[in-house]
Amino acid sequence: MASLTNALVAQAMNLAAGAANIAWPVAGRLFPERLEVDANRSLWVSGTPGYVPRPALKGTTYADLAIIGGGFTGTSTAYYVSRRFPERRVVLLEAASLANGASGRNGGMMLNWVNGYDDATPELAARLYGVTRQGIDDLCALIERHKLPVDYRRDGTVTIYTDPARAAAAHALVEAENAAGIPTRFYDAAALRKHLSVEHGHGAIFDPGTGQINGAQLVRGLGTVLEAQGVTIYENTPVIRVREGTTITLTTPLGEVQAGAIVLATNGYTGKLGYFRDALFPLHSHVFATAPLSAGQRQALGWHGLAGFADDFDRISYASMTGDGRLVFGGGSNDAYSYLFNNRTIYPGGSVNAHGAQVAMEETLARYFPQSRALPITHRWAGTLGITYDRRPLMGVRGEARNVYYSLGYCGHGVTLANLAGEILCDLYAGDDTRWRDLPFVNSGYHRIPPEPFRWIGYQLFTRLTGKSPRL
Ligand SMILES: Cc1cc2nc3c(=O)[nH]c(=O)nc-3n(C[C@H](O)[C@H](O)[C@H](O)COP(=O)(O)OP(=O)(O)OC[C@H]3O[C@@H](n4cnc5c(N)ncnc54)[C@H](O)[C@@H]3O)c2cc1C
Repeated sequence: MASLTNALVAQAMNLAAGAANIAWPVAGRLFPERLEVDANRSLWVSGTPGYVPRPALKGTTYADLAIIGGGFTGTSTAYYVSRRFPERRVVLLEAASLANGASGRNGGMMLNWVNGYDDATPELAARLYGVTRQGIDDLCALIERHKLPVDYRRDGTVTIYTDPARAAAAHALVEAENAAGIPTRFYDAAALRKHLSVEHGHGAIFDPGTGQINGAQLVRGLGTVLEAQGVTIYENTPVIRVREGTTITLTTPLGEVQAGAIVLATNGYTGKLGYFRDALFPLHSHVFATAPLSAGQRQALGWHGLAGFADDFDRISYASMTGDGRLVFGGGSNDAYSYLFNNRTIYPGGSVNAHGAQVAMEETLARYFPQSRALPITHRWAGTLGITYDRRPLMGVRGEARNVYYSLGYCGHGVTLANLAGEILCDLYAGDDTRWRDLPFVNSGYHRIPPEPFRWIGYQLFTRLTGKSPRL
């Protein structure tokens, strides 16, 4: 009753202040009806207190390489290129602040695998697994090398199977993976319960070495390293126009960059720049995080160990646990994902319906952990994912002058892949793709998504009728 009264008081205060977000109390909790998502309120960003964005670009400058976007893709590319070519001028242009996008708003799961290759041969499966595992190793080595203040853990994650037949199929899959040299492990229901006492857990695939990471701390910490390596970073600097040529002109509100080459490191926002509009769905995904839970609370909940889990549904649920005991949860239903007409995204401006998403997500979490209804939630946020039709990422170089580099469409595995992208794009920029030539998503074609209004109508119809996400 007291919390309901508090909620109503807070709602009245919101209205009195003329706040755009009207809050509705549900079961004693306060939900924003719409989430103004330009301001990043993720748990991860709250781990970088006092962060001050760098000044915007004013006037004209030049660059050998201009990187558009300050998330994992942009900062990892700037890192590897500036180390390899210290004499070249690299500039990074970020529309808002570093980690404004998905890199500072995700579920924190640092995962292996590349989506979209379920039919891979054992050799390709081993290669895809190996490249992402190496990517995580490289990322953690980078953090340690520069002593970045980044919270991360690598004690493994599981995919849980919620039905006996799917669990049996997962067991067979693990045997095939082990035969291909992939070190995943199958947990039956009893073994799973030792780590996670989830309802409906009939079995799980454990993936060692995967984990959880605070992406905002990583990206913002890396910003300082980049500057020490000679990279110039401009924040509050949206690129509003790209004019291609042997020299590319990038127009920003107060300036211009003349660049020999550029990197599109804008993932779900890339359509706004006129690129890959037919390749990517910008999909909004919602997340919440609890206050730090004591060891007793975690035991009572059923979370005995592991960095995180995802489930086996198309509208995937994902959950992870920070080192200080905060449970982070996202996805799990149609309501927890949204596509906005004409590729609208969080930047610049905009809001998404948070009320339905947050109610649905708490219900989903309670299906797995019935005791979770009582948990104190401290952070709620949403972010833009870049989703391709066949769930395969796209990395490569394009343009008549072959000087427009890109890496995007990670489909929920970007914590690892977008950081690996820096290594791959650096080699492509250096004119040497030998390490990556066998990866099927490097300089590949892609399946096209229909234009609007068919895209929006198709998305709404398909998701409402099937409860799934459109895919090939
Ligand atoms: C809610 C959510 C949960 C997720 N959970 C996971 C997870 O648990 N595990 C996982 O592996 N992946 C997850 N992902 C995906 C992962 O976070 C992304 O794939 C990854 O962060 C993409 O990094 P990026 O640098 O390519 O893009 P972003 O981080 O989106 O960065 C793009 C940047 O470009 C900037 N920008 C946009 N337009 C312009 C412009 N015109 N000019 C200048 N700058 C511009 C944006 O402000 C932004 O900072 C999740 C994503 C979301 C949204």
